[in-house]
Amino acid sequence: MTLRNDWTRNEIQALYDQPFLDLVFQAQQVHRQYFSANTIQVSTLLSIKTGKCPEDCKYCSQSARYDSKLEAEKRIAVEKVISEAKAAKESGSSRFCMGAAWRNPHERDMPYVLEMVREVKALGMETCMTLGMLNQSQADRLYDAGLDYYNHNLDTSREYYSNIISTRTFDDRLNTLDHVRNAGMKVCSGGIVGLGEDKQDRIGLLYELATLPIHPESVPINMLVPIEGTPLADVEKLEVTEWIRTIAVARIIMPQSYIRLSAGRESLSDSDQALAFMAGANSLFSGDKLLTTPNAGEGRDQQLFAKLGLVAEKPKVSVREMAVDAMSA
Ligand code: SF4
Repeated sequence: MTLRNDWTRNEIQALYDQPFLDLVFQAQQVHRQYFSANTIQVSTLLSIKTGKCPEDCKYCSQSARYDSKLEAEKRIAVEKVISEAKAAKESGSSRFCMGAAWRNPHERDMPYVLEMVREVKALGMETCMTLGMLNQSQADRLYDAGLDYYNHNLDTSREYYSNIISTRTFDDRLNTLDHVRNAGMKVCSGGIVGLGEDKQDRIGLLYELATLPIHPESVPINMLVPIEGTPLADVEKLEVTEWIRTIAVARIIMPQSYIRLSAGRESLSDSDQALAFMAGANSLFSGDKLLTTPNAGEGRDQQLFAKLGLVAEKPKVSVREMAVDAMSA
């Protein structure tokens, strides 16, 4: 299967609408062409600044506009981040992701985040950040400090976007993704299902991701975890099979990307998670918390891995590091 970024919505819909078992089978076949079938990439996510976010994402406990009972925290110290990163490495994570609840990083925050990137990178881990919108200069400096990935989700379809977020536009998201790409970083971008959207919106999200000039290297497909106090607290729960369909189609249309199981995973049974892996998911967050929502704990993941015969992927050496190694050899 060749990589394509000219997918049409009709093609994506035809994949999505297949009988479920045909879809999962096709996704697994594609998966095996590109990835080792029993290896899962494991990341750890740490919130470096929690809550009081000026944005109004209707699903999020960190928005200052909703009364979600979340306790806001100021920026956490770099030393604390480093000790968390070391612990994550020891428990098998290859990538350390750091998230801040900002609309965009303020210039005064840049030295803080750049130092953090350098120090986590020095531990031999892959680094990822999610800090909101970036301008080109910020993206360039993060890349120069050693940031491997930048997470910036499209969340949902272009058509449904304004129902979920009104403080920025879909095109703002795409602009930041452009800056991240231009800087040379890898892109982590996906979305959330179960926001009250319809099937066309899930197809629309997949379409936007798969028609980016380069597919995101990492595609998180989250399932909404409804949070009391947010506008989506009582949204109707989406069938797990719809989530699995979204994962399977993502695997088929972006065959080289890591498809990540993120928020929502803790509510899945082991067999549902196994089905998601069967559908081509091959990356997950480990740890008890995903920024502020509960996550499947490390102990449970280790048991699941043992039960299913899965192994965690080792960190990859980037082209930049190989170049540095070659120069110093
Ligand atoms: S999802 Fe991010 S940008 Fe939106 S309110 Fe939450 S922290 Fe802010």
